[in-house]
Order: sequence, then structure tokens, then C-alpha cells
Amino acid sequence: MKRKSGLLFVVSAPSGAGKTTLCQALTASLANLTHSISYTTRKPRPGEIDGRDYFFVTQERFRSMIGAGDFAEWAEVHSNLYGTSRRVLDDMTSRGIDVILDIDTQGAKQIKGKFPSALFIFIMPPSLDILEERLRNRKSDDEAEIGKRMLRARDEIRDYALYDYIIANRDFDRALSELKAIIIADRCRTKNIDPSWIGELLQQSEGPA
Ligand code: 5GP
Repeated sequence: MKRKSGLLFVVSAPSGAGKTTLCQALTASLANLTHSISYTTRKPRPGEIDGRDYFFVTQERFRSMIGAGDFAEWAEVHSNLYGTSRRVLDDMTSRGIDVILDIDTQGAKQIKGKFPSALFIFIMPPSLDILEERLRNRKSDDEAEIGKRMLRARDEIRDYALYDYIIANRDFDRALSELKAIIIADRCRTKNIDPSWIGELLQQSEGPA
């Protein structure tokens, strides 16, 4: 089956809802799907690698990229700047590769305006108590940061209606299979199929002589 071009999947969730782990498992288990590496001014957490988890850049570099129109979307989240490279998106989708954007709800709104055919998926934590517990267990943020992330989580959840699908991440395997199902189904949608493929198919079988 041939498709018109790569598809764009936007995945948002409050920080700590398990979105990054889910997206990593998803790209490892589905072919032809890649995760767009964002630019950020945030400092790397222990174990994070520049060019794999994010492109870690200075405020100055980030601002000059905004000025040059390098971002398909960008936003300030928890006092840091995050943005998606326009060039990477265009390169991937024009080569027929599907791209996942793991971005916040402000970024998702911008993508919705620019790429109306993108599909929007929201990962919901099972409860706010569990979300807070996960943030604490991560041990990467101090109390003030956890407080900020919990406030922001409520705001993000209020934006749920922007999204086409909602997945509750209570059980990881179940959430992953739901995420996969959504992507696999979207790949088969008629609007995403290249009509020339149907034309070629019809030419191959010319019917009874
Ligand atoms: P973290 O600092 O925990 O890695 O990410 C914080 C938040 O920033 C998450 O909600 C994540 O989805 C969001 N984020 C990561 N990259 C981007 C991006 O390129 N654009 C936007 N708008 N948000 C992003």
C-alpha cells in the first residue's frame, strides 16, 4: 500500500504521565515511524544525551532560531523553551516517514493550525495523585519544580478536547497497544492512501480476456 506522504502524530500529556517511555516503545515496535527530536533550553537530566533526547541549546541560539523561522512550533514550558524543527518535519514526511511529536498542548495548538491533517493523541494519567507520585519517584525535580508541573498538569488536562484520542496510562502494555492501534488505523485511512497506488493496482488486472 502506498501513502501520500508521512503522517504527523501529536502526542501530549502532563509531565510524568509516561508519554516519553510510551513514545520510545512505540517507535521501537512500529516500522516507518520516527520521533522528532526537539530543541530545548532546559539543562539535560542525568542520562539524557544531546541529539538523542533533545538538542540542548542556549537561550540565545533558541531565540535566533525563532527569528530565522526554524520552528514548526515552539513554546515556553516550565520556564524553558522547547521547539520542533520545521526542516526535520518536512524532510521526514516528504520521504513518507511518519513522525511523532511529543509536545505540550501550546505546541499542539500551533500544529493544529498549520497541519490540520495531523492526528492528536492525549495520554491521561490514571489520577493526579499517581502523577505526583511518579514525578517524585523520578527524583529529577525538586519540590518547587514538582509543584509547577502539577499546576501545569491541570491546565494541560483542561485542553483535552483539542485531541482526537485519549489514552489512560494506568497499565503500560495496554496504553502502548492502544497507541499502536490508533496509529495503525490512521495509516489505513482512505484519505491517507496515494490514489496512484489504486490506479496501478487496477492496471495490473485487466480482467477476463
Ligand atoms: P521535559 O522537560 O519533561 O522533557 O518536557 C516538558 C514538556 O515539554 C513536556 O510536556 C513535553 O511534551 C514538552 N515538549 C518537549 N518538546 C517540545 C517541543 O518541541 N515543543 C513543545 N511545544 N513542547 C515540547
